Amino acid sequence: MSTATPVQGLAILGSTGSIGGSTLDVVARHPDRFRVVALTAHDKWQRLLEQCLAFRPDYAVLVEPAAAARLREALAGTGIRVLEGSAALLEVAALPEAPLVMAAIVGAAGLGSTLAAVRAGKRVLLANKESLVMAGPLVLDEVARSGALLLPVDSEHNAIFQCLPPTVSGQVAPGVRRVLLTASGGPFLRRSAAQMADVTPDEACAHPRWVMGRKISVDSATLMNKGLELIEAQLLFGLTTGQVEVVVHPESIVHSLVEYVDGSVLAQLGNPDMRVPIAHALAWPSRIESGVESLDLVRRGSLGFEAPDLERFPCLGLALRAAAAGGSAPAVLNAANEVAVDAFLGGRLNFTGIARVIEDVLDRQPVVAVRALDDVLEADREARALARSALRGVTG
Ligand code: NAD
Ligand code: MG
Repeated sequence: MSTATPVQGLAILGSTGSIGGSTLDVVARHPDRFRVVALTAHDKWQRLLEQCLAFRPDYAVLVEPAAAARLREALAGTGIRVLEGSAALLEVAALPEAPLVMAAIVGAAGLGSTLAAVRAGKRVLLANKESLVMAGPLVLDEVARSGALLLPVDSEHNAIFQCLPPTVSGQVAPGVRRVLLTASGGPFLRRSAAQMADVTPDEACAHPRWVMGRKISVDSATLMNKGLELIEAQLLFGLTTGQVEVVVHPESIVHSLVEYVDGSVLAQLGNPDMRVPIAHALAWPSRIESGVESLDLVRRGSLGFEAPDLERFPCLGLALRAAAAGGSAPAVLNAANEVAVDAFLGGRLNFTGIARVIEDVLDRQPVVAVRALDDVLEADREARALARSALRGVTG
């Protein structure tokens, strides 16, 4: 009897990004195991062209029509179909020939395609945490309905997943007392609030441990990333806000921990390289090579842990507030953060203004119950409008 694993089709949504590139790096090591069926990006057609020539997918999607036209011309005669527009993202997320979907679009723009993959009953490798923060209960309902499998790619959630016994997404594992979510602390861990006021986007994006896209890099610098991850952890593992504790661990070697009622604490460790959780999610429950070197604990020396400082990093407190409020509040938090981060990256808001814009929006927008996707989208729209008006009032 053959024990060979059949080749599995994979769609990578957001293939030109940091997670997309790391996914292709792992996939390239296992041509006998994975076949790339679709690659998607927003507008970087030259990068997508290189990826298409290397991986020969059946479909390539660019949201921007003008960029799609350039790619179509460059790929003429290859047999690769080039699609355009956001609707094409939903189409390739649901292709039956791709049972694996890597959801690695950044921000709220990833919600539709993540949901489409879930509804199609896929094994969804979830990097796009914003979709879960915005519409968590709805996404989990769809997972239960369709039989999809959500495998967390975010390194902390992948670590927690590895430390828990097998359960269905959103359900509580027996005997868990709490989860310790580790945070590197970002590039400004040792800066005072005054020193943070005039940092530049490039400084904020120079993360000491991880190379990531610019939006998540800024989120890591404000600690909003940890706040979004706290909400993500609650949803994925059926935990209360009080059961998730954030611990700053600057070395980023321990990716998170689970404490059980008997006092046992299980942790997942590894070098800080996203190929580890990506390879884990791609092959689960098997294990495959990721290309990441062995962890040398002796060379690392000591590992440090400390409490987060909510005064210097108010975004984490704002996320806790939204998590406790529930309903539309996490979607509002996420939308206001996206607008504020975009303004910071565009030079229209200073770094410490990010938290002020988000707080202003949370103060002004009433929390409503979320029963359907339209409720989420409406809350998102309203929060973006409020954030834009707050931007005009916040000089930083
Ligand atoms: P990135 O900015 O490097 O890449 C984003 C990808 O999304 C690109 O392929 C881009 O073309 C695509 N995209 C952007 N806007 C789009 C739109 N409007 N429509 C369609 N596609 C669009 O981002 P990243 O760092 O790879 O992060 C991707 C996601 O993974 C984020 O949700 C992030 O929070 C999460 N994540 C990233 C890391 C990391 O190490 N980079 C770690 C954990 C979680
Ligand atoms: Mg993370």
